[in-house]
Amino acid sequence: MRPLIASIRLAHFRHNYLLARQQHGGRALAVVKANAYGHGAVRCAQAVADVADGYAVACLEEALQLRAAGISLPILLLEGVFEAAELAEVQAHGLWLVVQNREQLAMLLAAPAAKPYRVWLKMDSGMHRAGFFPADYATAYRELQESGKVDAIVKMTHFARADEPGCPATDAQIAAFDAATAGLGGETSLANSAGIMIHADARRDWGRPGIMLYGATPLPAGHAANVGLKAVMQLTTRIFGVRELGVGEPVGYGASFHTERPTRVGLMACGYADGYPRLASTGSPVLIDGIASRVIGRVSMDMMTVDLTDIPQAGVGSTVELWGDTISVNDVAAHAGSIGYEVLCNVKRAHFRYE
Ligand SMILES: *Cc1c(COP(=O)(O)O)cnc(C)c1O
Repeated sequence: MRPLIASIRLAHFRHNYLLARQQHGGRALAVVKANAYGHGAVRCAQAVADVADGYAVACLEEALQLRAAGISLPILLLEGVFEAAELAEVQAHGLWLVVQNREQLAMLLAAPAAKPYRVWLKMDSGMHRAGFFPADYATAYRELQESGKVDAIVKMTHFARADEPGCPATDAQIAAFDAATAGLGGETSLANSAGIMIHADARRDWGRPGIMLYGATPLPAGHAANVGLKAVMQLTTRIFGVRELGVGEPVGYGASFHTERPTRVGLMACGYADGYPRLASTGSPVLIDGIASRVIGRVSMDMMTVDLTDIPQAGVGSTVELWGDTISVNDVAAHAGSIGYEVLCNVKRAHFRYE
């Protein structure tokens, strides 16, 4: 068996969910879109099914996967529907949906509603990606309300810069949201993970934690609010080859790295086809039998090479942590100019082990 293993510690997922909800107060939808950020949506959803208030996914396809697995809690479609035909499925499966623009609103107002819809009406409070402008929000709200097709409207918005401590943009978004929703009844939902972690004003009726559930922080490394999260995925592999090189020898494709000293090179099973970012080549951190080292040379499709020179006891069979309890996925991502979110979502081909 190829030794690349993504251990998914579901107890950590559960711990992080309960922590997120406690920090937020009120209720929290566990965001399990994109196959639970690469961790396995059904398994993660099941791990909190007895405690969660519901889930959020990107689209109908993701929601149906959870329903097919027997998940019966509320599920919110964060992007809403893409075509009117999806509304029949929304009805059949009792899904909640975001309405974020005129087109989606028109589809809903024209659709049959044997049962009432539960709508999360999204405002563009400053991110300028999706949602009704503040000036148009109350009109959309009233149209929905007067349609007789909804049983409740949750007022929501999404933050562009909540992960930047000290940045005033989030306070400005909150102020815009509050001003434009004044007098409109119903519950509210503002906070993603970073909102929950560092913006007390963003904690309303419903939190929408995502990345923090997987134990990765959206905040800069070392930020005090990062404590308490537990990495859910531990990605490990093994060394399956070793060679000794002299000084000035090239390693890997493109000879992008040359040895600067006599070097023991370890070969391990993991590459960019597994989701390890190719741009995180020489310098990216790894942990070999518990000792910190680094990637040397380019990451290739199925394999990569690491520096064993200072770990003489390591050799064929040694365990390598690519990220997890010790190596932060955010650090690996930073070496590739990316973020932990993207790196986690990309993991594939590894053997997934649920613990
Ligand atoms: C993905 C998403 C979230 C979760 O964001 P994190 O930063 O992962 O916590 C919350 N709300 C919406 C609308 C989203 O699309």
